[in-house]
Amino acid sequence: MEREIQHKLLINSLRSLGIRQSVLDAMMRVPRHLFVPEDVIASAYTDTPLPIGHGQTISAPHMVAIMCDRLDLRVGQKVLEIGTGSGYNAAIMAELVGKEGHIYSIERIQQLADLAKKNIEAAGYENVTIIRDDGSGGSLDHAPYDRINVTSAAPSIPNPLIQQLSNGGIMTIPVGNFTQRLYIVRKELDGSVHKEAEGEVVFVPLIGKYGFQEHE
Ligand code: SAM
Repeated sequence: MEREIQHKLLINSLRSLGIRQSVLDAMMRVPRHLFVPEDVIASAYTDTPLPIGHGQTISAPHMVAIMCDRLDLRVGQKVLEIGTGSGYNAAIMAELVGKEGHIYSIERIQQLADLAKKNIEAAGYENVTIIRDDGSGGSLDHAPYDRINVTSAAPSIPNPLIQQLSNGGIMTIPVGNFTQRLYIVRKELDGSVHKEAEGEVVFVPLIGKYGFQEHE
């Protein structure tokens, strides 16, 4: 089947999850095959995570869709992503915040940060900055952030990330070890913080100062 048809079928299949239209449109505009390695390119438009090297994965499209939906991204927002991986999720968020917004995405593995930069450039996004670092404690450089998206599982919600979230901000973060749940963290305008756990998810671990230690 042609790539374009596979892409349409994939995005249509996400409708049943109740994903907002702006996210589906953004996912239709980002060619996932530009973000996966050559040896798995035939599976670019299947709803599964795929290996991207260094023991890491590009998340399944339905997971990217759910996180972007819960983040309720708006044009002009400043977003921090922790775990760039292939750069695919960053590209979807870049579509949603538009040229007026910006995505700062941190990746701890140098080769993946380099790969993501190449992918993001090939896809033509100029509103994404990729930083090679341990992002488990966020980044003070551009804080506070309107939205924070953590794409690897933390043992608990790192305090610095809550501090770096704007009042009125939203963070999505998978939390847990053997079983993980996706948390939606809302910081209200008065600074109070509400945490809500959604269903079970499976993510690679967040490794770093506020995550798991490398040997765990
Ligand atoms: N969002 C990615 C995409 O669209 O391809 C998928 C992310 S992958 C599931 C999780 C990524 O988090 C991995 O690339 C991993 O190296 C990275 N990671 C783990 N701990 C990290 C940390 N402390 N700081 C930054 N990145 C981290």
